Amino acid sequence: MPDDVVDALAQFVARIDVFDPEAPVHTELEVDGRKLTLREPVARALVEALRAYGDPRDNGSCDHCGSRRMDTSFHCNDCGRFSGLFGDLIAQRAAEYTEPDALPTQRALPAESEESSWTSS
Ligand SMILES: [Zn+2]
Repeated sequence: MPDDVVDALAQFVARIDVFDPEAPVHTELEVDGRKLTLREPVARALVEALRAYGDPRDNGSCDHCGSRRMDTSFHCNDCGRFSGLFGDLIAQRAAEYTEPDALPTQRALPAESEESSWTSS
């Protein structure tokens, strides 16, 4: 897995360096023994990419305890409450929900009459 990080960084650098290969060097990184030269455009792009990244599991923070461990239903995994307008709506609907009555069981049809309707002509 660490090799994947270095490869990804090296590919990122190469993708951006191609547009401005003579730009001033901003810094150099050494990751797992490999040196990477980050020119100014690469450094700016890397910072921008890192700041723009959003974890797909990030559903905001809990209104009640501030935790960031919210599931997609806005249910807080730390305090157990629902958060936000949608969370309130989900909690309200869940409280109002009642299990529907079970469907009546079907009575078996009289075997003789059905059978005779298929076979008689
Ligand atoms: Zn919470």
